[in-house]
Amino acid sequence: MTGAAGGRTVSVHDSLSDAIRSAHLVIVGAGLFGLTIAERAAAIGARVVVLDRRTTLGGNAHSYIEPSTGIEVHRYGTHVFHTSNRRVWDYVNRFTRFTDYRHRVLAVHADQVYPVPINLATMSAFYGRRLDPEQARELLARERSAAPQQADNLEDQAIAMVGRPLYEAFIRGYTAKQWQCDPRRLPADVIRRIPVRFTFDSDYFSDTWQGLPERGYGPWFDTMVRNRSIDVRLGTDFHDVRHLLDGTVPVVYTGPIDAYFDHRHGALGWRTIDFTTTVMDIEDFQGTAVVNYPNEDVAFTRIHEFRHLHPERTVAGGRTVVAHEYSRSAGPRDEPYYPVRALEDSRILSRYREAARRETNVLFGGRLGTYQYLDMHMAIASALTAFDNDVTHRIRS
Ligand code: FAD
Ligand code: UDP
Repeated sequence: MTGAAGGRTVSVHDSLSDAIRSAHLVIVGAGLFGLTIAERAAAIGARVVVLDRRTTLGGNAHSYIEPSTGIEVHRYGTHVFHTSNRRVWDYVNRFTRFTDYRHRVLAVHADQVYPVPINLATMSAFYGRRLDPEQARELLARERSAAPQQADNLEDQAIAMVGRPLYEAFIRGYTAKQWQCDPRRLPADVIRRIPVRFTFDSDYFSDTWQGLPERGYGPWFDTMVRNRSIDVRLGTDFHDVRHLLDGTVPVVYTGPIDAYFDHRHGALGWRTIDFTTTVMDIEDFQGTAVVNYPNEDVAFTRIHEFRHLHPERTVAGGRTVVAHEYSRSAGPRDEPYYPVRALEDSRILSRYREAARRETNVLFGGRLGTYQYLDMHMAIASALTAFDNDVTHRIRS
């Protein structure tokens, strides 16, 4: 039996090899993709072993309570849950209730503060006059007239959406810092995630359901694995224990796809993030949860102030926790966070996808395993679908 409480995991299995020998399924990665597969598999009676090289559950959505303030800190940057997928919303509500937090983000440009994504307030402030929706549409139509017909990279796509001046102010520098490469080398779909609004709606996400887990991310993830059939082994790197797999137990692998194959076709481009997290002796540092810094003369991309994610909570007064986010290309020893998907990565990726197809006992899933940009709800949705259509047929009987 295994229980994961407050990030600690206790197992009565003598050894991992025994656990694997008697498992119906082994899952590499305790992020939301892996946890969803584990929960579903255990629900139909399968014995599951979950490995993660980190010592915490939830992958990049992990959070902890900073002891001196009682503030919940999102270790890998602000994570807000949002979805318009009814199945995903019903599923996650089985493990946690959500607050009614709505994420609103500001950007500092030339010492002024603007709402992002770009909306009517951003455009009015940027162009220095009150614009109604029709005027703003006309203005952007003029600005966009210089955009190329076919937008096949991020820069062309952004200019086609907002015109060059807004692109230069709010997108080019942020994107170059965030992805550590020229926006012309990035795929257009990254920027299509961000809406342009001709209203004063300043919500960052447009989804039907949004919020934060009421009691925090930790209790949510603990509840997902609270099942006698799930044996969680934290602090365990798949590469150190893969020799224990005999090829008969099916594996769901959510680590980086290139690492699985020992980088034999070359290294894919990944981006990592450094956070400098500081407890400050002030009540309120910036008045909101996230402020973006799109200009290239500032090294960080954004500042997170976690107390603002839970205005409903009472925490110790006079102190706050702030994290500055710095993005950089991931080296071989760094934790990969985001697939860069620069145009040259697609050739390497197709080789790994081909190799993955031949690895018939392994399902590659999640953001790292599929080299795709997935939000939490997308990781859960794809895990639910993969479970129904694939994993359920693989589980060893
Ligand atoms: P991950 O969470 O990355 O989990 C993969 C797990 O596999 C990790 O725990 C890793 O340690 C483990 N692993 C890797 N290799 C090995 C190995 N060799 N052996 C054992 N274990 C291994 N989504 C939202 O919905 N809202 C947000 O606001 C949001 N903000 C984000 C902000 C940042 C800075 C980042 C980086 C991501 C954000 N996301 C957000 C995305 C969200 O974190 C991902 O969708 C989610 O983490 C994907 O889940 P996953 O299980 O695929 O991957
Ligand atoms: N983006 C930007 N300026 C901003 C916010 C976002 O240029 O103020 C761009 C940037 O390229 C980013 C993309 O929009 O990678 C998607 O933004 P999102 O917040 O979804 O990115 P994430 O933080 O998840 O990387």
